[in-house]
Amino acid sequence: MFNFFRKNKVRVRIAPSPTGYLHIGTARTALFNLLFAKKMGGKFILRIEDTDLERSEKRFEEDIIQSLKWLGLDWDEGPYRQSERLDIYEKYLIKLLKDKKAYYCKCRKEDLEKERELQTKLGEPLKYSGKCADQNISPDQASLIRFKINAAQVVFKDLIRGEINFDSALIGDIAIAKNLRTPLYNFAVVIDDYEMKISHVIRGEDHIANTPKQILLQQALGFPEPKYAHLPLILDPDRSKMSKRFSATSIQEYREQGYLPEALVNFMALLGWHPSDDKEKMDIDEITIKFEIDRIQKGGAVFDVKKLDWLNSEYLRGEDNAILLKSIKELYGKELGGLNDEVLFKMLTVGKARISKLRDFLDLKASFDLLEYSLDLLIWKDTDKKIILENLKKSREILRTVLNTKFNKEDLEKELMPMADTRGRGAVLWPLRAALSGKDKSPGPFELMDVLGKDETLKRIELAIQKLEFGGKN
Ligand code: GLU
Repeated sequence: MFNFFRKNKVRVRIAPSPTGYLHIGTARTALFNLLFAKKMGGKFILRIEDTDLERSEKRFEEDIIQSLKWLGLDWDEGPYRQSERLDIYEKYLIKLLKDKKAYYCKCRKEDLEKERELQTKLGEPLKYSGKCADQNISPDQASLIRFKINAAQVVFKDLIRGEINFDSALIGDIAIAKNLRTPLYNFAVVIDDYEMKISHVIRGEDHIANTPKQILLQQALGFPEPKYAHLPLILDPDRSKMSKRFSATSIQEYREQGYLPEALVNFMALLGWHPSDDKEKMDIDEITIKFEIDRIQKGGAVFDVKKLDWLNSEYLRGEDNAILLKSIKELYGKELGGLNDEVLFKMLTVGKARISKLRDFLDLKASFDLLEYSLDLLIWKDTDKKIILENLKKSREILRTVLNTKFNKEDLEKELMPMADTRGRGAVLWPLRAALSGKDKSPGPFELMDVLGKDETLKRIELAIQKLEFGGKN
């Protein structure tokens, strides 16, 4: 067996079932497979496991392919589709039937339920009794093809968990196909892993219970056994299995929220693994260099959305604003309210430090909208209304003289700060900021003016002045 792996290079696979959008757990499995392949100079294969005809959908397959590409998790071979490989499975099913290692079973759901009820009453392990095994049931009477499990210890060495032992006496004869043209999961996987010369099966811990069944099938068919590595589960903060209750589970949703693929990849690499130097922000090349499969942890990996947000903001900082704006427009074009690129660009430039994902840009944009406000908002602490009015007029006077080309944060600060320092910063800058935003919390006055431009700035100040002059008592 050892020779088999020496002669055959490392070949790993991601084998998603197209029964839902690409799940973050599957994406992490894909990443770990890809990292291992890169590290070992091997190949990474994409196989779509679409034998479950009722639950598989083309749109999910498309999403899986697109999302993997978006993440940059490119495969060397595939996509293979199980639905296009039925002849191959049929060949092996016939062989198992001929060798009497598999048999037709006519038990229906109701029969199996009755069997289970009885076993529960007797306190026996719940497993199929094997009653159809020696009955020579004909294919047209059958509802399933079952594989005979002979009682034995199945032992395998998991690359992450060490030796794992299973008592196959606890497993009843397993269903491997509905008929010759409809294989089921455990069987199709074994055939494909063999046919595709998969050297290492790296997959989620939820598949551990399938492994002994697959090993017994490999033995029955005379196939070599691949090496196994079962990745820890991804957990919610309450340490339950990750569900939609706490965070989004599909890659599509993360994309829509404006996470960058590089940040997600970095984050996913840390779900169950970390480098020996504990560094957190790493691009895929650095991760590949540092990645070691035996450093993957056994215990569940808690999904920490704060860490994801932190990483994403780090990647946003390092990204070119024009590129980010293009993504923002692609993602949220309709929600941008027809603002021109120049204004959007300025908003991003002044507010980038405050967003952790692209969707936050919509809040950032809203922070520049003028809200309806009451006169009181303009008043700084117990400053007299007259002073506030005077200060706003002074600001207006200065701002009128500032050239359009100088209407930016730095130049505006130079123009206005001397006056603010003379007349009191709070009493000058607070009403100015309030007049420009209509809110008690907003970006600072210089950022606001930079984004709004001279005309809009003067318009908003005018409005505040009118409020103070005619808008009732204070
Ligand atoms: N199709 C299985 C799934 O989507 C994966 C099978 C495997 O990795 O062996 O969970």
